[in-house]
Amino acid sequence: MNDNKTMIEIKDLHKRYGDIEVLHGINLTVAPKEVVVVIGPSGSGKSTMLRCINYLEEASSGEIWVDGEKIEPKTNLNRIRAEVGMVFQHFNLFENKTVLQNIMLAPMRVRGESREVAEKKALELLDMVGLKDKANVYPKNLSGGQQQRVAIARSLAMNPKVMLFDEPTSALDPEMVKEVLDVMKKLANDGMTMIVVTHEMGFAREVGDRLIFMADGQIVEQGVPEEVFANPQHNRTKQFFSKIL
Ligand code: ADP
Ligand code: MG
Repeated sequence: MNDNKTMIEIKDLHKRYGDIEVLHGINLTVAPKEVVVVIGPSGSGKSTMLRCINYLEEASSGEIWVDGEKIEPKTNLNRIRAEVGMVFQHFNLFENKTVLQNIMLAPMRVRGESREVAEKKALELLDMVGLKDKANVYPKNLSGGQQQRVAIARSLAMNPKVMLFDEPTSALDPEMVKEVLDVMKKLANDGMTMIVVTHEMGFAREVGDRLIFMADGQIVEQGVPEEVFANPQHNRTKQFFSKIL
């Protein structure tokens, strides 16, 4: 049962690779339309947490719920990955397909949408990310920022309930960061529930409803971004900020 106050719930999530535990009991509840920004040092488990939420990795123990449904091996994985969109640092577009084909592929193959419906939606999404004029272009002829915006449109074409972003701007040249962050901001303003791992502190401050600081496989501290920045409670957080701010 979904009480409409929770979109994502993570309960005591542990993840081990062999003998090494990299997530030591994560608890996190994300409300519908909430934007949670996750920061923390490299190796702290941010990507692993996101990958467990859409089942790219199987949790070692604990529970993950999305919109009132438990994510587990017997769940239909295609459906989960449609409902939980994910955007990575590297965009992974299909190089031999046009922008439009990249966006239409999964809706047609996985959701069984007709070509007409898939194309109409793809063009709307391209408009939303500011790339309507690139529909028939191949990825190699786009800049990194444009490719990442196509990747976002491709995820959105599956009508996800939640979007996960794993350092979506880290591989981009600086002048392309803003165009991607602006699309994410628009998405947030439209009411998408989002978890965003990023080093972009301006985005965290401006768009994030909540900031989570992770270190060593745990959530160390969280709060309203402005307050966490201004007044970090834990030494580990202070240390991290002293290096990046
Ligand atoms: P972050 O995204 O915060 O940099 P990760 O979630 O990528 O951290 O990694 C957390 C820890 O898990 C790191 O110590 C990393 O080396 C380890 N790890 C990640 N993926 C694997 C894997 N497939 N096999 C073994 N160890 C892994
Ligand atoms: Mg990572």
